[in-house]
Amino acid sequence: MSNPIYLDYHSTTPVDRRVAEKVYDYMVNNFGNSSSIDHIFGDRTQEAIKKAKRQIADLINSSPQEIIFTSGTTESINLVIQGLQPSRIIISPVEHKAVIDTCQAMAKKGLAEIIWLKVDKKARIDFNHLEKVCSQGADLLCIMGANNEVGNIYPIEEIGKIAQKYHIPFLCDGSQAVGKIPVNFEDWGITFLTISGHKLYAPKGIGALVIRKGYRLQPLIYGGGHQNGIRSGTLNVSGIVGLGEACYLRQLEMQEDESAIALKRNHLQSLLQSKIPQLVINGDTENRLAGNLHISIPNVPNSAIIARIRHKLAISTGSACSSATVSPSHVLRAMNLSDDLIEGALRIGVGKFTRDIEIEKSADIITNAVEKIFQLTSIYDADKFTRI
Ligand code: PLP
Repeated sequence: MSNPIYLDYHSTTPVDRRVAEKVYDYMVNNFGNSSSIDHIFGDRTQEAIKKAKRQIADLINSSPQEIIFTSGTTESINLVIQGLQPSRIIISPVEHKAVIDTCQAMAKKGLAEIIWLKVDKKARIDFNHLEKVCSQGADLLCIMGANNEVGNIYPIEEIGKIAQKYHIPFLCDGSQAVGKIPVNFEDWGITFLTISGHKLYAPKGIGALVIRKGYRLQPLIYGGGHQNGIRSGTLNVSGIVGLGEACYLRQLEMQEDESAIALKRNHLQSLLQSKIPQLVINGDTENRLAGNLHISIPNVPNSAIIARIRHKLAISTGSACSSATVSPSHVLRAMNLSDDLIEGALRIGVGKFTRDIEIEKSADIITNAVEKIFQLTSIYDADKFTRI
């Protein structure tokens, strides 16, 4: 069987070979502990970390001193929300669960009150409501740079201005945005920005948190006092080198790569639209990530499609799977989409390694599955859909 096609780049990206080579070098040759101050192995890794901070800072226009390393965005978000100890938090309902569940855990303990922003059917934020709740004061505002399901790009600069106007610290989950669209930490009024290595062609388990000068967070992890005592634990030097290199490459190649990705996404979109006339495209198609295509096919449950194509094509339903149940996406629920659209929702993520031939094959795989399901539904009733 030929290799399955990967179109799930929002979930994770393959590591760029050039990044992997650097990572390998710092795993096998320059493997020193950056806390070792008595020999050259330590010196080399300290230098490498300094360089990585510079590369990351250059991509997002921050100062290298504002960067600390974490395992990824989930940890960074927890560090900000729990470490800042806000009592009134404004969040968008289409944030990642890392934000929503952390805030809800704080609320459950009676430590914080959550103010939910309003979003429309395209997951766009209601700016009048945002301004109104900010004017009533808060200790933290959480809005992502780009959405991991429908791909919306949020107007971070405008949001940052509102946050600054009302003196509210602004946490921007940048995991889907950094490396795909320009992000300007210094000029856009962001107080805390998160970056995930595995969303921009670096390894999993490495991320950065950018903390604006003058802000101090209570640590979640205590120990050797690494990273100014904010996040103890021996630094993941090879991961950090990989993240730095990936940011450097993104800075050089982002614009060209993302334009090419958008063309491929648009091609896939038109192929699907021409073959599946009832196809609905979700989210803010005017402002979405180049690689994002979020569709719903009414009357065709996404689980039925996935069951048919999973060995050939990797795309996602966006549903959250816990041990016993599969719950529909909270993002689509917050957008107030009909059950039909939610049940038929599929997230497709195109990336820089996606080839034209894969786009064409993917369109065929999806449309063939949809046709088969339609044929079967004229024989079987809708309840039997998921069992085919
Ligand atoms: N926030 C968003 C928008 C994401 O897409 C993800 C990853 O899926 C996360 C947070 C969690 O990031 P990480 O895997 O780096 O912890």
